Amino acid sequence: MVKTTIKRLFKLILYPIRIITKLLISLTKRLKFSIAFKISTTYLLLYIIIILTVALTTTIGYLVFEIQKFENTVVSRDVENIVNDFPDLRSISTKDGDYNSVKIFDANLNTYFTTGRVGRYGSSILVVIENIIFNNEYTYAGNFSHGNSDYYLNISYPIEELLQDAWRIALLVLLSGAIGLMFFAPIVSTSSYKLIGPIKNMTEITKTITVNNINTRLNVKGTQDELKELSQTFNEMMDRIEGGYKVQQQFVSDASHELRTPIAVIKGYVNMLDRWGKNDKAVLEESIQAIKNETDNMQDLIEKLLFIARSDRSNLNFTKEDFNILIILNEIEKETKMIDTKHKLNFKFYKDATVYGDKARIKQAIRIIIDNAIKFTPPNEYIIVSGYIKDSYYVVKVEDRGIGIKKDDLDKIFDRLYRAEESRNKEIGGHGLGLSIAKIIVLGHKGKIHVKSKIGKGSEFSLLFPIIES
Ligand code: ADP
Repeated sequence: MVKTTIKRLFKLILYPIRIITKLLISLTKRLKFSIAFKISTTYLLLYIIIILTVALTTTIGYLVFEIQKFENTVVSRDVENIVNDFPDLRSISTKDGDYNSVKIFDANLNTYFTTGRVGRYGSSILVVIENIIFNNEYTYAGNFSHGNSDYYLNISYPIEELLQDAWRIALLVLLSGAIGLMFFAPIVSTSSYKLIGPIKNMTEITKTITVNNINTRLNVKGTQDELKELSQTFNEMMDRIEGGYKVQQQFVSDASHELRTPIAVIKGYVNMLDRWGKNDKAVLEESIQAIKNETDNMQDLIEKLLFIARSDRSNLNFTKEDFNILIILNEIEKETKMIDTKHKLNFKFYKDATVYGDKARIKQAIRIIIDNAIKFTPPNEYIIVSGYIKDSYYVVKVEDRGIGIKKDDLDKIFDRLYRAEESRNKEIGGHGLGLSIAKIIVLGHKGKIHVKSKIGKGSEFSLLFPIIES
């Protein structure tokens, strides 16, 4: 019984503490996470400080003004009477003035005369304030001479009424402040929430963006402030992301498409083998050859795709070293002459130079350009490969008298899986990945790649690699 009563009592005592703690926690949470709440609280605090300052200054100002008026009239009259009557102190004793008490001290500050409690002479402002606060009295301090002696005078006046008036003024100011606060608080709160509104809106919209609605953008209408700039920047970022995403999607779709053809061909031959090829040697031979070609083709495509994917993930490692570029140019010359006997090949390397890079990759890039020249140039036409130094680059130039590239296509040939109309026929072949790979390699060596071409006349590709020394 007693235990439960104590428990209940304990609960009752703890109840307000719990409520206050909860309130404080929610307040600090809101202060931490809501900018609008922070702005409102700051403005309201400022308002309260201003009101308190106004109340204090008006009250003190009123007191100082009234006391000065009092000193100029009542106090100076009483002092004059006392000094004139001195040393006759009967009029003071019979309390002619409005004062509570009069104290006179001699030159050594010993009490000469007092109507109230015997005390010390006080003339400092602290004594005046102390008396106002604790005794509700105003204490005048002054001195006069009589005969050859100096005397000091303290007169205390009751100022309860004055203080009451001062209080009334303070309360009035505080009350008007509180009424003002009732209007000010909702205005501050709504305007700060309005100010922060766009951020909330942005957060809500941003939360809903997924790959399915990647074209969603923030509303940038309205005032021309920092939040609008933020929204615009966000939208621009989304434009870039959407662009990249679309390119990736297109790439995946094109790559799947490229893989679909060889798989369909292989499937066709397998079906043919299944039906007739088991006993027909000619069909068997043809099918095996075709399947071999298509798997080679697929392997080549997959390797190229993997190279590009690795480069996208910044996972491409070049094994770089200093080497004489002429070494790989001579190798390329030998190999090309062996592979291609249909064109008039011309190799001219005017100078050698040291380049810092991945030998195998640089060779691969040059090969891509030469292979294209071979692919897109009719037999018996010229293909000229030259190497020379220009500024601080080693230039490998491949010129051909081939089919050339249309002006519109020139910007696109470095895009993944892009092939110009003229080269899309099956005989020429290719996946449209060679130039993308060559570009990745050249840029990975801080180099440059240039192309000039005229449809029907031929093309000129230049690969520029920075040189270390010539
Ligand atoms: P592909 O494997 O199709 O050759 P590339 O990326 O190497 O892929 O080349 C892209 C396209 O650029 C080619 O399909 C072709 O249309 C065009 N191209 C590249 N080199 C030449 C060239 N020397 N002459 C004419 N067209 C070229």
